[in-house]
Amino acid sequence: MTSIADIDILIAALYPHIYQARVENLISPTSSLQPSENSTAVHSFVDSFAELFHFYPDCKTAAVASQSLLHQKMSLYICPSAPTPAGFEADVKRWFTQFMDTRTASIEKADSERERFIIDVYSLCYAKMRQGAVVDDRVWTLFVNLSEPKNEKERGRRKAVSEKLANLSTLVESFVDTISREKPSLGVETRQFHDVCVNICDAMKDNELKDYINKYLYVLGVDYLLQRFFRLPIAISNLLSSATKPELPFDGECPITVVDAGKLGARQFKALLSAENLQEILPGDVDWDEVRNAFIEDESGTLIEGLYWNPSDFVLSTGAPVTPHPEVTLIQDLLNKHNCDSDQGAAVTVYIACSTTPCYATVVYAAAINNVLQDRGKSFKFTLRTDDLTWCRLSTADPWILVNMAEKDIVERLKETLLSELRNMMDVWEKEQLFY
Ligand SMILES: [Zn+2]
Repeated sequence: MTSIADIDILIAALYPHIYQARVENLISPTSSLQPSENSTAVHSFVDSFAELFHFYPDCKTAAVASQSLLHQKMSLYICPSAPTPAGFEADVKRWFTQFMDTRTASIEKADSERERFIIDVYSLCYAKMRQGAVVDDRVWTLFVNLSEPKNEKERGRRKAVSEKLANLSTLVESFVDTISREKPSLGVETRQFHDVCVNICDAMKDNELKDYINKYLYVLGVDYLLQRFFRLPIAISNLLSSATKPELPFDGECPITVVDAGKLGARQFKALLSAENLQEILPGDVDWDEVRNAFIEDESGTLIEGLYWNPSDFVLSTGAPVTPHPEVTLIQDLLNKHNCDSDQGAAVTVYIACSTTPCYATVVYAAAINNVLQDRGKSFKFTLRTDDLTWCRLSTADPWILVNMAEKDIVERLKETLLSELRNMMDVWEKEQLFY
């Protein structure tokens, strides 16, 4: 019989392999999770909205789900990592109202409504955006104090982009001037700061300049730089441009529910990786001695924050109880709601956006749910964005646990997939060992 403890063990056994497997394309998310193309405006809104919570004070991650039932308005569900930060619900609802105000305002008033939203978001989120940017202040020097071109070839390329580069330098200088201060004074200055960030992003997207930067100035590349330092301004500006899309299904109101990530309970993640235990509860054609060797070799247990590996009794565990990831809580919560819903005939698709890309276990779990529901003839499914190259970051996310109330059929399906992926990964691992 499958139990939640089995899932902990399989997740533990997969830790050493997941990252490499993703890089080498040994695992890929099922296409059944891809959101459909015809609700792009909604996805773009939900993605950007979720992104804001990455910068919300005391919020590690958050997930946002959008659900629209037939003949009903769209509803949003938002779950921040536990514990829910103080004031979270009021802030979220105010942001949404402000967003709607930018959507419905007259042309004359639209700009001041946008400004109000921008200032409000930065007043809460600037501090976290600043943290990352200041630590890496050497990056900015590259753009402000341009070094002499190293050779003739670079001199030629530099000449071609000199005007654009000078413009970018000025923008970066202004950015650094603000970001080196703890707070921009709220108001016009915040708006100017946001505009500078957006202008930097736009300038760097110019193909000619981008190629130059990638080749000569910043080897990690423009895309990485934008993703690393400008996520907040990009999210704000994407949100504001989605506000003008008529196809967003918010006529008037959109109910927003803030879900507590702790509501489904917390528990300790605990996996006993002794060969006897593995053989007993997870029999099959897997060589559990090798699974354990792979684990010990990789010492993954010591690398994942919040997880501890005890080599003397082969236990990988979290010291204290942990809560399920926000997106897992949302998935379960919406599943419960759906099961209680009388109008089960209508097709429902719930799109879930995460402030940090979805992790491997969530992706497999959501796919297992979709499969089981499909087998039962239900037209209810979850979609998740898995086209991001960094999807599946199991080894960088908080320890992943399954909710206690997960249905048996679904746990069984999840276990099947995890076992089969573990088999594949062990095959690869064993082959690699032959080379050492
Ligand atoms: Zn996750």
